[in-house]
Amino acid sequence: MESGHAALVRDDRECLWHPFTQQLGWEAEQPLIVERAQGSELVDTEGRRYLDGVSSLWCNVHGHRHPRIDSAVRDQLERVAHSTMLGLSHPPAIKLARKLVDLSPPGLTRVFYSDNGSTATEIALKMAFQWWRQRGDERRTKFISLRDAYHGDTVGSVSVGGIELFHSLYRPLLFDTLQAEPGDAADMERLLAEHGDEVAAVIVEPLVQGAAGMLVHPPGYLRMVRELCDRHGVLLICDEVAVGFGRTGKMFACEHEDVSPDFLCLAKGMTGGYLPLAATLATEEIYEGFLGRHEELRTFFHGHTYTGNPLACAAALACLEVFAEERTLERLGPKIGLLSRLLESVAELPAVTEVRQVGLMVGIELGGFALEERIGHQVTLDARRRGAIVRPLGDVVILMPPLSMSEQDLRRLVATTAEAIAAATGATALPAAA
Ligand SMILES: *Cc1c(COP(=O)(O)O)cnc(C)c1O
Repeated sequence: MESGHAALVRDDRECLWHPFTQQLGWEAEQPLIVERAQGSELVDTEGRRYLDGVSSLWCNVHGHRHPRIDSAVRDQLERVAHSTMLGLSHPPAIKLARKLVDLSPPGLTRVFYSDNGSTATEIALKMAFQWWRQRGDERRTKFISLRDAYHGDTVGSVSVGGIELFHSLYRPLLFDTLQAEPGDAADMERLLAEHGDEVAAVIVEPLVQGAAGMLVHPPGYLRMVRELCDRHGVLLICDEVAVGFGRTGKMFACEHEDVSPDFLCLAKGMTGGYLPLAATLATEEIYEGFLGRHEELRTFFHGHTYTGNPLACAAALACLEVFAEERTLERLGPKIGLLSRLLESVAELPAVTEVRQVGLMVGIELGGFALEERIGHQVTLDARRRGAIVRPLGDVVILMPPLSMSEQDLRRLVATTAEAIAAATGATALPAAA
């Protein structure tokens, strides 16, 4: 008789189509099927355990099966699983909005929910565009984004994306965007000087462009972008989908440079990695631009069916409570320091050309490999055999552990990754672990 695992493998190969995955390669490999998880570990259908080295795609915060978040979701399930935000409201959405307004940079007073990061940025783009129209400034229709930017996969968010590999094919479908060099304030200044009065908003990932392979901006860049936007009367959208909720060592990355954007986009870590939920925060000035009598048609005609889902909001509220109760941010500093020290030995591996780190976000760049070698993928497969899940972006191996990962597990994750890189790249001698 076919085992449960074998049947799952067969049906996965016959019925599924995985995201960002070349299915031809997928069907040829053994799939890892996650059945359970606990803390920083994932457990597959055959009982093998793996460190969750990328926080289940950058969204887990306090670990899996956190008792506080588990019980918050269960409690909410006993009340209502879903009720709409269109024309109705519910307690978890209201309480969470209050908390987000209190926690986020000053000036952000309104919370518009959706259910993923792509929509969170798409909503900011549409709001910015509509806001200028309703002010009577119809020239301001353009957006400035950064080369190698990633803001999601829907057509609007891809329009402000700048990753050739993912985005170039769709160019004919997209709206035109002005592209600035990442981290180069002079380039932003030049674009704004030339086009400032046609620009609705600048959109950036603060401090570090995650999907670009952890492209780190120089200190002061975000602050400069804010000042340039102010000088040219342009709105600023900060996409904190990846960097928000403690990833960089502070609750929001904007705090590192005392920046208040006009829009703040949140998703991934918002529910602690439990359920899909996103928010676009806006200032009161933006909000007021949408007020008017019904027949003035200043309404923001946008909203998703599962916008502000109660289970997801309950998880997000519990996630924020855990930040306070476990003093997550205070305890993060030493972990970030430990991770930097551990990475020193990884940087010495012969195939490693650069190691970039911001908080608990790490990109380990491997150099000298052809596209078809899929070196990042080879490292992933090797790390898996050694008990750690990592996922590369091209030839950059990404580490993004849950904020709750213990120092011991951080050591194990980095050591395993170093071993996997050495094995996959054919290096022999490993430098001593820190
Ligand atoms: C992941 C990501 C998104 C898209 O979020 P989804 O929930 O996958 O749609 C947008 N912006 C940034 C910076 C991201 O890292």
